[in-house]
Amino acid sequence: MSELINLTITEAQDLLNKKEISAVELTKAHIAEMEKARFLNAYITETPELALEQAASSDAKRAQGAPLGRLEGIPIANKDLYCTKGIRTTAASKILSNFVPPYESTVTQRLKDAGTIMLGKVNTDQFAMGGSTVTSYFGATKNPWADENGDYTLVPGGSSGGSAAAVAAGLCMGATGSDTGGSIRQPASFCGITGIKPTYGRCSRYGIVAFASSLDQAGPMARSVKDCALLLHEMAGFDPKDATVADLPVPDFAAALTGDVRGKKIGIPHEYRPSGLNADVAKVWDKGIALLKEAGAEIIDVSLPHTKYALPVYYIIACAEASSNLSRYDGVRYTTRVDGKTLDEMYENTRTDGFGPEVIRRILLGTFVLSAGFYDAYYTRAQRVRRLIYEDFQNVFQTVDALLVPAAPTPALSAEAFQHMSPVDTYLGDVFTTPASLAGVPALSLPIGLSQQGLPIGLQIIGKHFDEHTVFQIAGALEQAAAFDTKPHRVKG
Ligand code: GLN
Repeated sequence: MSELINLTITEAQDLLNKKEISAVELTKAHIAEMEKARFLNAYITETPELALEQAASSDAKRAQGAPLGRLEGIPIANKDLYCTKGIRTTAASKILSNFVPPYESTVTQRLKDAGTIMLGKVNTDQFAMGGSTVTSYFGATKNPWADENGDYTLVPGGSSGGSAAAVAAGLCMGATGSDTGGSIRQPASFCGITGIKPTYGRCSRYGIVAFASSLDQAGPMARSVKDCALLLHEMAGFDPKDATVADLPVPDFAAALTGDVRGKKIGIPHEYRPSGLNADVAKVWDKGIALLKEAGAEIIDVSLPHTKYALPVYYIIACAEASSNLSRYDGVRYTTRVDGKTLDEMYENTRTDGFGPEVIRRILLGTFVLSAGFYDAYYTRAQRVRRLIYEDFQNVFQTVDALLVPAAPTPALSAEAFQHMSPVDTYLGDVFTTPASLAGVPALSLPIGLSQQGLPIGLQIIGKHFDEHTVFQIAGALEQAAAFDTKPHRVKG
């Protein structure tokens, strides 16, 4: 049974089609592994009964020869930021800890329609704010990659840390994540898996708990580039319920995986190589460059001069939008409520009790940068610099097809170290992911090598707007060349 949790989606589809395994068997194997690995705290809510029911009806459909979804019988997990009808959706917060949505997000609905089976809702940083999954009201998630002593002390990254840990540990075959400033790519790197933040506007945000609406994007996380391509194909596409989704056809992303990158021009921006760059990260980056070169790609040095402003611009814009989005949690319409003597006091009590410290910090920062006296100095200026960052990418994509850069400045850190870092120090972890978020371009992170301590390190391939095709093409070739084994860290015992 245990080998079932090591399959890629493509391998599982093949076995399901040949009737060598059933969806029920596949689902049971994952449920058994979830039970074994509960200490990782990857899931906030497990839905094994629902999963087995879905699996049984999937098997019945197959037996009857009924039309099947493109991901029929594949067990997945959803980040607990996606509204799932009738199933608690918490955003890893206290304030939404008893929220049961009366509707389903577009992306999870599409995955359901494609025949996937939902194993449960996975952990995240509270309201997707963070890079460690330590800020969850439901406790931190652990990285399934053990430290040098064999202990599970490392963070999985975040905010989609539950998704990354679950995928890496074989607790699902793929998962939804969301990425506002790196929340798919950084945890993918920390856990040795693949994840893509598609172009802003590729996937619907309808039914995803909003953090920063001009940045939030849904995306898949899985154990191979092809699995991500298959998942994204089902998740993406026009949605009348979200006006920011592009009305463009969704290409067959998996068809991009030709393995051929000959003649592709890959840009290497020197701004991503600051003098103090972590030696392990630098080494893996050099390895990625060498592998693409060997595969026939042309490597070109480029410059994205406004990169250094991305982090402060991101934190101004993301906090501003968060302060506005989170104003809806007032204890009146839904969410937990703490009463007070007056209406204002009730709001205050509810929000003080319901939000964690990181969320409160961001609401305060966001309210400050949007306040009448400081709006122009911070918010307007940040918007202007965002435009310059966007133009950097536009310019560079006149000469290259894609960029290759690190996903994160370090491998996974220990939860202990994280707890002692200042908020600003933790924000520095987003230095390589926020530029693509601000520009809205697609970026995929895939594991390329290990640090000296044996921890995974991922690289990002950043592409042109709506050119996920090229991103997948390059990622597929790099994955083959790097031959990274994504499954050495199954939970023991
Ligand atoms: N780590 C970043 C932050 O804390 C990104 C979060 C995200 O992408 N959701 O804002």
